[in-house]
Amino acid sequence: MKLARRRIWPKRTITIWFASLFILVLPFVKAGGDSLLRLDASTRTLFFFGARVRVEEFYLLLIVVLLSVFFFLFVTVVFGRVWCGWFCPQSAFSDIFEYLEKKLAKYAPPVLARIIIYLLMALFSFLVASNLIWYFIPPDEYFRRLFSGEAGEVVTISLVSIFLLVLFDLVFVRRKFCKTVCPYGRIQLMVMNRSTLTLEMNPDLAGLCIKCGACVRKCPMGIDIREGVQVECINCGRCLDACRDVMEKLKRKEGLIHYTFGRSSSGGGRPVNATSMLLAAVIILLVSLFLFSIKNRAEATITIRQSVSAGSRKLPDGSLINFFNAYIENRGRKPLAFNLEPLPLQGYRIMLLGPVRDIRISENENRKIDFMIKIYPSPGLPQKVKVLLRNEGVIVASATATLLSE
Ligand code: SF4
Ligand code: SF4
Repeated sequence: MKLARRRIWPKRTITIWFASLFILVLPFVKAGGDSLLRLDASTRTLFFFGARVRVEEFYLLLIVVLLSVFFFLFVTVVFGRVWCGWFCPQSAFSDIFEYLEKKLAKYAPPVLARIIIYLLMALFSFLVASNLIWYFIPPDEYFRRLFSGEAGEVVTISLVSIFLLVLFDLVFVRRKFCKTVCPYGRIQLMVMNRSTLTLEMNPDLAGLCIKCGACVRKCPMGIDIREGVQVECINCGRCLDACRDVMEKLKRKEGLIHYTFGRSSSGGGRPVNATSMLLAAVIILLVSLFLFSIKNRAEATITIRQSVSAGSRKLPDGSLINFFNAYIENRGRKPLAFNLEPLPLQGYRIMLLGPVRDIRISENENRKIDFMIKIYPSPGLPQKVKVLLRNEGVIVASATATLLSE
């Protein structure tokens, strides 16, 4: 096959476009009525590819965070800075505006070209800022609030700050960010090892280099890969294409730059090694743990606290009343009706008073119920009473209330 037909850059461009488009449309994509991925600000719920995780469910959130961290570590250990070159929106922004600047410089007078570029940058920054907010507020609600002038303080401040930040990035920073301050780039450098995918000048063919400089001119990061593996390299493959083009003209069968797992000079490496296997195992373990936890978690929860506004009262008939607040959360996917009832306690008669029957709670809602526990005879010491939460007769959760005497 002709070398020009084996170009890496077009494949990389398609990939990064798809990745950016995916990030843009993800908040619009729904599974079972929920966004595929969104941390919903109003209900404090993470929608994570079909699963709903309440912020209160800390252990599940922790699994999601750990899963993301280990996934990125795995990708970096095996494929190096492939995220930066092939998937990162920052690289996509830089590509887009480098391309537009080049085209406009060809067809428009300099001043007009600058004005058009700044306008496009402003539009683009607004889109990026909106896109980020859609990961916290559903897009339809965002547009409704924006167009009715009721965006609210938090949304307005977030929108303006992100807009200005992205605009600043597009006008002044772009790839300098990847080269210098990007924290992910720095972390990647620490975790890459002897077997990580990288690009290098093939040491067996180095003598064939005609020093034309095409690989350096084409590099978006402005580095010279002939000097060896460098931290700024984002594995984009543009230098590889440039050299293949040069070699094709010289009627050679291959370019001088190639992808390699580990440096050839040190014998190369194996992508399947102890580190990558260990990381893959941790990822499999975390996914299994997440699925298991989601499948087995309670459909509803209840927490009971002593009411701060009312204490305890002894009645003339010898019984004791304590006031409580119950916080009931429906984690199911449909509205449910709950009943509260006490677990019988030998030697006592216990009654729950207040709106404790047929408590209707919408899906994903957390409701506070004020109720009283009446116990006869009044216990001398603090007495624990177990309160059961039932749905259609089935106990779905329980909590303990501690009764205090006057
Ligand atoms: S050295 Fe090659 S692969 Fe690395 S950033 Fe430059 S062009 Fe891309
Ligand atoms: S493009 Fe190839 S031949 Fe030209 S300088 Fe780079 S490595 Fe050498």
